[in-house]
Amino acid sequence: MKPEPTQLERQPCPCGHDLPYGRCCGRWHAGQAAPSAEALMRSRYTAYTLGLEDYLLRTWHPSTRPTILNLEQDQPIKWLGLKIVRHGALTDANDEEAEVEFIARYKVQGKAEKLHELSRFIRQTGHWLYLDGQFITD
Ligand SMILES: [Zn+2]
Repeated sequence: MKPEPTQLERQPCPCGHDLPYGRCCGRWHAGQAAPSAEALMRSRYTAYTLGLEDYLLRTWHPSTRPTILNLEQDQPIKWLGLKIVRHGALTDANDEEAEVEFIARYKVQGKAEKLHELSRFIRQTGHWLYLDGQFITD
């Protein structure tokens, strides 16, 4: 028998999808491979909202991965939402590299901020990994 979904698993996924967390980003956090760079990006945003430091490090490419994130020591951030602007393969010839442009909104010290970034992802042995990103200023 399958265990009953927890309250967190039944809640709307923080990434903004219509699915509950347990059927959205929760699956990738539990160990399944995210099927696309966009799905991985969403699950990394959700991991930030939940403070899942291990997951963020695990889905970071080894060449750019920090040794520690210190999420708890940062200023407390209230994440408000994620919008995927666009996503796709970096080149037509290669579906192992992709980019995702997104806007994440958050509040820190009562001030609303946004992070607009174009991120690059690489797939290695079936797992998408975050490589790096550049900020976009309007
Ligand atoms: Zn999600």
